[in-house]
Amino acid sequence: MRPEVLNSLFRPVDALTGVGPRIAKSIESLAGERVVNLLWHLPSGLIDRRYAPKVAEARPGVVATITVHVDKHQPPHNPRQPYKVYCSDDTGTLALVFFHARPDYLKRKLPEGETRVVSGTLERFGKETQITHPDHIGTPQEISRLQAVEPVYPLTAGLSLKVLGKAIRGALDAAPEFAEWLDPAYLSGQAWKPWREALAEAHAPQSEDALEPMAPARQRLACDELLANQLALSLVRLNMRRLAGRSIEGDGTLGDKVRAALPFALTASQEGALAEIVADTKDTSRMLRLVQGDVGSGKTVVALLAMLNAVEAGHQAALMAPTDILARQHMTTIEPLAAAAGVSVALLTGRDKGKARQGALEGLASGATSLAVGTHALFQDDVAFHDLALAVVDEQHRFGVHQRLVLAAKGRAVDVLVMTATPIPRTLMLTAYGDMDVSRITEKPPGRRPVDTRVLPLPRLGEVVAAVRRAVAADNGVYWVCPLVEESETLDAAAAEERHAHLSDILGGSVGLVHGRMKGADKDRVMADFAAGAVKVLVATTVIEVGVDVPDATVMVIEHAERFGLAQLHQLRGRIGRGDKPSTCLLLYAPPLTATARARLDILRETDDGFRIAEEDLRLRGAGELLGTRQSGLPEFHLADLAVHGELLAAARDDARLILERDPDLETTRGRALRTLLDLFERDTAVKYLRSG
Ligand code: ADP
Ligand code: MG
Repeated sequence: MRPEVLNSLFRPVDALTGVGPRIAKSIESLAGERVVNLLWHLPSGLIDRRYAPKVAEARPGVVATITVHVDKHQPPHNPRQPYKVYCSDDTGTLALVFFHARPDYLKRKLPEGETRVVSGTLERFGKETQITHPDHIGTPQEISRLQAVEPVYPLTAGLSLKVLGKAIRGALDAAPEFAEWLDPAYLSGQAWKPWREALAEAHAPQSEDALEPMAPARQRLACDELLANQLALSLVRLNMRRLAGRSIEGDGTLGDKVRAALPFALTASQEGALAEIVADTKDTSRMLRLVQGDVGSGKTVVALLAMLNAVEAGHQAALMAPTDILARQHMTTIEPLAAAAGVSVALLTGRDKGKARQGALEGLASGATSLAVGTHALFQDDVAFHDLALAVVDEQHRFGVHQRLVLAAKGRAVDVLVMTATPIPRTLMLTAYGDMDVSRITEKPPGRRPVDTRVLPLPRLGEVVAAVRRAVAADNGVYWVCPLVEESETLDAAAAEERHAHLSDILGGSVGLVHGRMKGADKDRVMADFAAGAVKVLVATTVIEVGVDVPDATVMVIEHAERFGLAQLHQLRGRIGRGDKPSTCLLLYAPPLTATARARLDILRETDDGFRIAEEDLRLRGAGELLGTRQSGLPEFHLADLAVHGELLAAARDDARLILERDPDLETTRGRALRTLLDLFERDTAVKYLRSG
């Protein structure tokens, strides 16, 4: 239940005066559907109306507010001409110009013989000074109430600044005063104002400086938002800690059998990560650990050995992948290795139905099957485990861990291990995962050759096709990735189909196609053919971006590389260079490229270090777009900008930790205020974890 003080802010926007259904729609698409969303819609500019010159002194091209005597209306001779109203002061004449004017309205606003104040951008034509469509016209009294400096907001079609500005003022009026949730010493150290004052100030910038993210009012609001984020994550984590864990201690027998069956030895990094995981599971508190390792760093074996550790102790373990293809790929890797240790594995995806599924369910329920690999289908209601002790979640580049933590906290007393291939910069790590334990696999398995990466304009497609032809002649596999087209899988598929037809014409029958609109079984068949070498060129949408492992593939072509996130391009590139042959990644772009886009693609040419790539991308583009995918699951910030507010985030993290150490159920006065903060930023799932409501 949301506290009552917040009700006024959580009404739909059409509850505000002046906002009808049509305007509400525009506001929803721009800012959000509730009044509170308007509070977070901060100005992007300002109009300074403090410049109040005499007519003769007025500078053209500048917004000016001028007091004049209304001399004479001059209606147009024909409808294409403007309506003019001549005014003057003691220094000169000012013409007000109106197209498509309504004369009676103008007569009322600008009665001849009276004094009026007008505000707008001045123009000078020859000798004539004029303002076309003044922004404001009023009596001197009316104008004195006008904000001397007006905020300018980002707009959308169908929404004028006047209308939006009014709605936002309405939202600000609806904002209550809250008890202070920031630490008083910190607040005064920063010389920040109370929340409501800071909010009002952020919406009433008096200078360009006030629009900067480091302006005090904006910093305060960003700090609030980050604190809500960090506190919510810490609460989820604290809650997991409270649930008793159990000590799981394998004896290494199964793991040793798998190690003996592997054609390689683990890298020191893999061993290090595994040791940390094993130590965590042995500990009696619940494990919540993130394994971060670049594509190809070998996370799968680490996961398998961790799972076998649980099996050795008599329990079950499950590995959850984000897509069907990836779940199957994991199954292909894991099943023979597990078999070498005499351990059975069940596969459960949305596509496994009927008898096979029934058999898998029975094995897991009875405990006859020790390991499960699957998609989110693993967590459906009818899936019961005999004794699940460890859940490994392979996130790849998709976040969403927050939801899954919630899911894990729902009941199953399982240790949770999250694997991610996204080289998430430290700042983003904190916002997505909070203060989670992290193991990093920093080494790549030995013998990997760096991928030769080139950036080419699309008109040089001919050269690219020639390179593909050479690779095919040498019996190597080629990935050809077509870009995401807006949010539409249908359009993606169409682009991929077209490219498939084109390449088939040139290269004949060895070109395959996979995209999101195909049936699962068809996708599997094409992927299997590609892995087996029957299909040489795989035209695909980004469905192949995660996890697929075909060591014979040596060429990766990515069309419209400029539309992808760098992390995503890095992931895709990680699909090649897995064997011992030299490989090439060709990034095709549609010219012209902006300087930033060029710089981004160049980073990929320069380095293969996923962390550096992510940091640079964050610097160049900001967090929102970092992953280049819309459903990244990363928390969205309205007020905080992680590229500049990194220090505030660190402070928020420390503060959240301290708060919960002293007041784990948020029951002190400040604790109560913090509950309101969580609600204000819609982190209500976290509020649920508090022991007393
Ligand atoms: P990712 O971290 O991207 O999930 P994978 O687990 O898919 O990486 O491993 C990539 C490839 O590297 C696989 O073919 C795997 O068998 C191989 N591999 C894993 N560890 C090692 C190692 N220590 N030495 C050599 N090859 C390894
Ligand atoms: Mg993997």
